[in-house]
Amino acid sequence: MTAGPTREAIDPVRFISNRSSGKMGYAVAEAALAAGHSVTLISGPSAITPPGGVRFISVTTSDELHDAVHRAAPKCDVLVMCAAVSDYKPAKVSTQKMKKRKTPFALKLIPTRDILASLPAERRDYLVVGFAAETHDLEMNARKKIHAKNCDLIVANDVSGTDSGMESDRNAVTIFSQQSELKTISRTSKKNIARELVKIISKMSEKCLTKKP
Ligand code: C5P
Repeated sequence: MTAGPTREAIDPVRFISNRSSGKMGYAVAEAALAAGHSVTLISGPSAITPPGGVRFISVTTSDELHDAVHRAAPKCDVLVMCAAVSDYKPAKVSTQKMKKRKTPFALKLIPTRDILASLPAERRDYLVVGFAAETHDLEMNARKKIHAKNCDLIVANDVSGTDSGMESDRNAVTIFSQQSELKTISRTSKKNIARELVKIISKMSEKCLTKKP
């Protein structure tokens, strides 16, 4: 399970990040634990205390998250990528605090690695669940992402409002498999969504996977 944002350093005191709180990912980790699964939670900076009983791995940058996911994924039955990975990072990290200027300046950003897309697409023996946070064309973007990122399931959520999605305690999602739309869960607590999601993933993994020792 991955959760929370990543932080991409600009200099020793500044970074680029996003509004992800980690609430959705931590709720899925908790629901999976409650359903009797063993859970590794790889998390970017979050104010939430990790649920007791998870194996907790703390990361900061998208590169650290990439490496932690690649180390953990081969040992898991299901990888749930809920983390809001920064899409860009500064091309150079200044080792000294950058001085304030009186004139505009441009920061050169380069794309981070796409962690989901970097996982083996074939002959992997774990399920991959991605998230798609969208402000528009939710269904079309989710359908594109599930194929582009080789996910078995994708959980799409609308983050255009303030009453659900990022930072909120509530969310509303639609879950897609490669073939079809599986379920829409209208606005409810992230804990309820997490419980439903764990049920759907468990059902799918029972069909597809033999448990690893
Ligand atoms: O492309 P987008 O960021 O919307 O995709 C969201 C999904 O992809 C999430 O599951 C997120 O954890 C994952 N992701 C990733 N590596 C990135 C960006 C997003 O694995 N660099």
